[in-house]
Amino acid sequence: MKADYDIAVVGGGAAGLMAARSAAITQQRGGRRTSVVLLEGNPKFGKKLLATGNGRCNLSNLELSIGHYHGDRELAAAVIEKFPTQRILDEFEKMGLLCRADQEGRLYPNNLQAAAVLQALRFSCEEAQVQCVCGFLVSSITKEEKEFVLVSDSGERVRAGRCILASGGMASPRHSCSQNGYTLARELGHSIVKCLPVLVPVKSSSKLLKPLKGMRSKVYAALLADGKKVAGESGEVIFNEGALSGICIFNLSSLVGEWQRTGKLQDKAVKKLEISLDFAENYSWEELLHYLRQIKTRHPGLPGGELFSGLLNLKVGQE
Ligand SMILES: Cc1cc2nc3c(=O)[nH]c(=O)nc-3n(C[C@H](O)[C@H](O)[C@H](O)COP(=O)(O)OP(=O)(O)OC[C@H]3O[C@@H](n4cnc5c(N)ncnc54)[C@H](O)[C@@H]3O)c2cc1C
Repeated sequence: MKADYDIAVVGGGAAGLMAARSAAITQQRGGRRTSVVLLEGNPKFGKKLLATGNGRCNLSNLELSIGHYHGDRELAAAVIEKFPTQRILDEFEKMGLLCRADQEGRLYPNNLQAAAVLQALRFSCEEAQVQCVCGFLVSSITKEEKEFVLVSDSGERVRAGRCILASGGMASPRHSCSQNGYTLARELGHSIVKCLPVLVPVKSSSKLLKPLKGMRSKVYAALLADGKKVAGESGEVIFNEGALSGICIFNLSSLVGEWQRTGKLQDKAVKKLEISLDFAENYSWEELLHYLRQIKTRHPGLPGGELFSGLLNLKVGQE
């Protein structure tokens, strides 16, 4: 029996939409039209994509380089080599989407709307004649001779010569119809790398977090392993109840996850992990003392909690 499609793509998120579009247009150039079906379990495509970058979709960075990657760097390097920033911008421009960079080089759609990215990807899939199907939750994939058979949770079947699994990761399950992609991959004989949380807030039991809830401050955040600095990042920290957040904290979170899992960092056993925040990284200890002494001398009646008012976020200074 002939397969229904040349390629079936499971998952209509950023990866699946791009994969389906690329498969359809790449093969078209070779002459024969490749038939592609994109299967999404949610009622709509790209639910997670819409939530990215606070609804603005930070889709790439002007400084795309391997130095910013952790984990399987070899794989990341191969991808970056094939898809450098300019190619990403060119591909989106071909889809009709213009982008702009912020001061730190983060790239966003020109109208700062993640919905525009989704629309461009969707439209481009339709234009390439990808069969876009929503509400098709793939519950099993089996390999039968020369084709894959994909069965939905309601028993519908799709047969395809090849299958691309783009069912997303474990982050933010509320944006995904299912996390069974790992099971589907395992059942097809793939091995699964253990998933760890990264780019996430870090929980803390500090009593200071509650009164500072919602406050933001520019800091240098240092990760201390048994009192010794192992990593540090400058940026904005956000105080939440029970957790520290913000990009500088996100960037340290992978090490916190590693320590939680193994009790080690950089192959050394670590008993205690702390995050230390420097709220005045541009000032030396001596300069700060000098400043505070001056303030105290000039304004002897100033309550202790107000001493930092000219330097720090008011609430942070008071606490
Ligand atoms: C709050 C938030 C903000 C983020 N901000 C950014 C950002 O600004 N920039 C950035 O680069 N990254 C950001 N990310 C990360 C980014 O969202 C993900 O890396 C990206 O969406 C992954 O795309 P994906 O297509 O691999 O997976 P997903 O977007 O998760 O898509 C997978 C799709 O597969 C579907 N699916 C799963 N299983 C099945 C199945 N069995 N059958 C059919 N369909 C299935 C799911 O419903 C889902 O639609 C953010 C993530 C979150 C949670």
